[in-house]
Amino acid sequence: MKSYQKEQDVSIRVGQQMTLTIKSLGINGEGIGYFKRKIVFVDRALPGEVVHAKVTEAKEKYAVAKLLRVVEKSPSRIQPPCPVYEECGGCSLQHMEYQAQLASKQEIVVESLRKYTRLNNPPVAPTIGMDNPWAYRNKAQFQVGKQNGKLIAGLYQTGSHKLVNLEGCQVQHEATTQIVQAAKQIVEELGIPVYDEKKRTGVIRTIVARVAFATGETQLTLVTATREIPRVKELILELRTRLPQLVGIAQNVNTQKTSLVFGEQTISLWGQPSIAEQLGELSFDLSARAFFQLNPEQTQKLYNEVKAAAGLTGNELVLDLYCGTGTIGLWLAPYAKEVRGIELIPEAVEDANRNAQRNNASNASFHVGRAEVLMPKWAKQGTRPDVVVVDPPRTGLDDALIHSLLDVKPKKIVYVSCNPSTLAKDIGKLMQRYELVSVQPVDMFPHTAHVESVSLLVKK
Ligand code: SAH
Repeated sequence: MKSYQKEQDVSIRVGQQMTLTIKSLGINGEGIGYFKRKIVFVDRALPGEVVHAKVTEAKEKYAVAKLLRVVEKSPSRIQPPCPVYEECGGCSLQHMEYQAQLASKQEIVVESLRKYTRLNNPPVAPTIGMDNPWAYRNKAQFQVGKQNGKLIAGLYQTGSHKLVNLEGCQVQHEATTQIVQAAKQIVEELGIPVYDEKKRTGVIRTIVARVAFATGETQLTLVTATREIPRVKELILELRTRLPQLVGIAQNVNTQKTSLVFGEQTISLWGQPSIAEQLGELSFDLSARAFFQLNPEQTQKLYNEVKAAAGLTGNELVLDLYCGTGTIGLWLAPYAKEVRGIELIPEAVEDANRNAQRNNASNASFHVGRAEVLMPKWAKQGTRPDVVVVDPPRTGLDDALIHSLLDVKPKKIVYVSCNPSTLAKDIGKLMQRYELVSVQPVDMFPHTAHVESVSLLVKK
């Protein structure tokens, strides 16, 4: 009889160096390889590459290693166009050719579904990308700080609190860059103190610039730690002189010690309190704090996928769950009998109802509440939706909502997701009663690891 051989010890130590082959891309854009069957994440390594890496973290189930050298290079590897790509935490896939990014995003969705559902060949279409995947963001939200006595503004490094100064940013619309750079310079020239979060002194915390793609209108918001801004009159005058394209300047006061950007109070310093934006046939009025999708071009493609999946005839009751400011519901309203949205944040619901009025969508209404509480309550009162659209945060659907969907049994569920893992887990549960018909990834954030998708589930 053969003796039972003890399994080889596969422990990996911090500091250990290894050569490994990268098999796929992880959910944060990192390369995934295996060392003696243990999963190893290597940042900036690409599928198909053989890399030499050094372990920085060793856990029971996985290890993290730092890329030391690419031994065999992927044909998709390119020189990242951004000069501060290595330091800045904004992008994570600029070292990969764009078509390969799109293919990897499709693959990530496929792999998640394989892992969490019984489907071997989930029906995932190729990712819808952008023809020109640059300058797509309509809002720049840059933290302000000091570096060697000089005022800087930018984003934090990944996993750290080190601010990276950005003089420009290729994923931002040019208009937002001009505004941020000019505002930065004016604040510096006037000597208005920068907020110091450790000492809790100073004034200027964040510079937010936003542009409406359809109208070109731009808005600047300065988030401050105090209600008073020293030399505010000169500040406004300089901003207006050097940035004549602005239609409004606002101040938002955030006195709290928090990582949230905005505080409760918004004050108009000059001009209009909002900018006018358009998405397809719909028009929106965006105040300084109002939520709006960050990539308008791709948002339209995403919403058109939602519309195609919903396949409306004009007779349906559609629920728009996690509706934000109601954009999906309003996109569908002309093709449905009635649209009802549910959203947790009261201000967003106010915006949604205002947007409905503005666009004469008299068959759409938006309600404050938790989707998992309000939908079952409506069901008890006899509401029978034909189509339910869900667009939850990264955490996915609440279990109570999944039970309620299985109970209410709409003919179709259209699941808009920004996280393939929670999407796949939720679909796995819904598959008791639903068939997964199609999944369409849409690239909302080129050069980052974000993967957005629209899935259609039809009642069996
Ligand atoms: N559908 C919108 C935005 C979706 S983002 C659009 O396309 O623009 C997800 C939204 O879900 C956020 O606005 C968040 O406030 C809301 N939310 C989070 N948890 C919720 C819950 N349990 N019930 C309802 N809404 C919720």
